[in-house]
Parts: sequence; C-alpha cells; structure tokens
Amino acid sequence: MLFSYSRLDKYQTCPKSFYLKYVVQIPEKPTASLALGKAVHAVIENVVKTQNFSKPYIEILAKSLGEAYGVENPEEIVWLAFRDAVLKEVRQGGTVEEQFELELSPEVRLQGFIDLWRENGSKIELIDWKTNYNTYTPTDTYQLPLYAYYLQEKTGKPVAGRLVFLRTGEVFEQEFTQMELKEAVGWAVATGKEILQKIEQLNEVPEDLLFPASPSHLCEFCGYAGICQGQIENTSEPQSYNEAVKLAEEIIRIEAILKEKKEQLYKYIEGTNIPIPVGEKEFRLVGEGYFKWTPEAVKKAYEYAVQKGLDPFKYLSLTSTNAEKMGLTDEDIKSLGAEWKERKPSLKLVKRGDN
Ligand code: SF4
Repeated sequence: MLFSYSRLDKYQTCPKSFYLKYVVQIPEKPTASLALGKAVHAVIENVVKTQNFSKPYIEILAKSLGEAYGVENPEEIVWLAFRDAVLKEVRQGGTVEEQFELELSPEVRLQGFIDLWRENGSKIELIDWKTNYNTYTPTDTYQLPLYAYYLQEKTGKPVAGRLVFLRTGEVFEQEFTQMELKEAVGWAVATGKEILQKIEQLNEVPEDLLFPASPSHLCEFCGYAGICQGQIENTSEPQSYNEAVKLAEEIIRIEAILKEKKEQLYKYIEGTNIPIPVGEKEFRLVGEGYFKWTPEAVKKAYEYAVQKGLDPFKYLSLTSTNAEKMGLTDEDIKSLGAEWKERKPSLKLVKRGDN
C-alpha cells in the first residue's frame, strides 16, 4: 500500500474511516469543505503557472473550477485565493503541485503533493495553503516535516516550511531541524507498519476490533457518517470528565449519522413523492414559509387590533434583534421596564471561548 500523510493521519484520527476508504475502498461522500479546498488549490496552482494575478482572472477561474469541484459559492474561492499572503508567495513563483513518492522503509512508501516550493539561496522554501478555520504551526502535524524530508533528500538543502492560512491571512514559518524530520519519518514508518500488520490480520480478527470507529469532532465532516454503524459506546450517564468527553464525541457522531440518514430519506421522498409511514406518523416533505411584515403591514395590524378593541401592544412584540438594531442595550431594555425571564439552560455546541 502506498501511504500519504493524509492516509496515515486518517488512520490515527479514526481507523474505521481509514478502513472504509482505503481497505474496502468505498468512495467517500465529498464534503463541502473538501470540495472548497480542492477548488482553491486548483485556482492558486493555475495562478502560479500563468503568473496572472488579476482579480477578474481569479474570478473566472473560481467560477469554472468551483463548478467542476461542486462548490456552491465561487466568491468564497476568490476571497480565499485573492489574499495578500497568497499573492506575495505566488509572485515569487516556484514548483507547484509537485507529486512525489519516497521509500521511507522497505515496507512503507510515502507519496505527497507539495503545493509550492522554491530554492532561495542556500535553503528551500516549502509552502502549503490551508483553508482550515483553526491555525497551527508547521511542526504541530507531521505533514510539512515529511514533505521537507523529501525536499531535503532531493536537494541536499535545509528546508523552511510555511503554512499560509487563507481564512485569516496568517502565516506560520519554521525551519525544520534534523531531529524534527527524523521524528516525522519515524511516525510515518511506525504507523504504516501498524496498518499493514492489521490488514494481514483481517482474516482472523473482526474488522471492528482492528479498525474501530473513533468518534470525535471530525465526524461532522466525515463522508462515511451515513454508513458508520459501529457500536454506540457508553450511553450511560457519565461519571467522570473523560466519560463526559467520550459521550460528547459520540453525540457528534450520532448527529452526523442522523443528518446523513435524513438526507438519504429526503432524496427518496423527493424523487418518488411518496410519504414514508412510521407507526401512526409519516415522514413527508412539507413546504415551509413565513410572513415578512413590512412596516406598513405592522401599522395596519396595529389599527386592526385597536378597531377590535384589543390592546395592540399585547400582540405586537419587539424582537431582541430589532431592539439591538435600534441600539438598545440589555440595560436600556431593563430600564424601559422590560422583564428578563430566565430559561432553563440548553445544551448547545458552540465555539470554545464564545459566551
Ligand atoms: S463518522 Fe466518525 S466514527 Fe464514523 S467513520 Fe466517520 S470519523 Fe469515524
């Protein structure tokens, strides 16, 4: 088996998703973030090759390549690709999207695609574009050190890696030490060998034991959620912090599975127009809409209530969004006499650090 950083990483984060993709070879359902990433890389590759940095040209590329990769919003591609941090790199040129294969040990061969690299005097610069929301440094994962190892073997020169985060425009750079490269290679060889051993055991040991499902926040973006039916773990009430973390990760997986299953049922009902009965209820597609109240319509509703002898203020309420638009703070609203009503706190999944 030919390994790559993303294959090895997939195995480490969830052995089951690795098994489904690379052993059983079930095609992974493309996710929106994957499609966006591919389209952005293709646009930047084209810009480096043509050395045409004009925004109209990038917009044309974003439209055609976005369509080819199934990206809904080509403007997002332009926003990500037409950034100072990107333009600064691509103007300097270099070798783009180089594919390589390298033997790391007699059993483990590694392949990779390098976004951009160039020689700069006595050293090599290695650049990788990232469309992730979270930033990290070049040594936080083994991807760049492995690519750097290949470039060092190829050129005999030390390598500095740069991660360019397209959403924030942040750039993280680091020159790799020999120790860091050795550590990355050691990890790739050990992980690759472990995978090969497990594949050999598949005739004797159940696949779920060798390649267990490992729920995490990544389930949200997993193209196998629709067929991930491994045993649901630890559904009892958590007794410790670690058990609570496991339960939270399992919830993310169950929600991802549920979303995928609902999409499958939606497609079936949409295609056949047949509702699906479940006991006394049924799943069907129900058109939904809402009334948009214009200021004129609100005024008429007010007059209607007065005409009927009703207190209009009992029925026409002010939403918190509109109060905010009017510039009223919570304190202002309280001082106007509005009463704050506590609700039972609800369980929500929010970004860490957000209130
Ligand atoms: S849904 Fe989660 S647990 Fe299941 S295969 Fe995907 S990443 Fe693994």
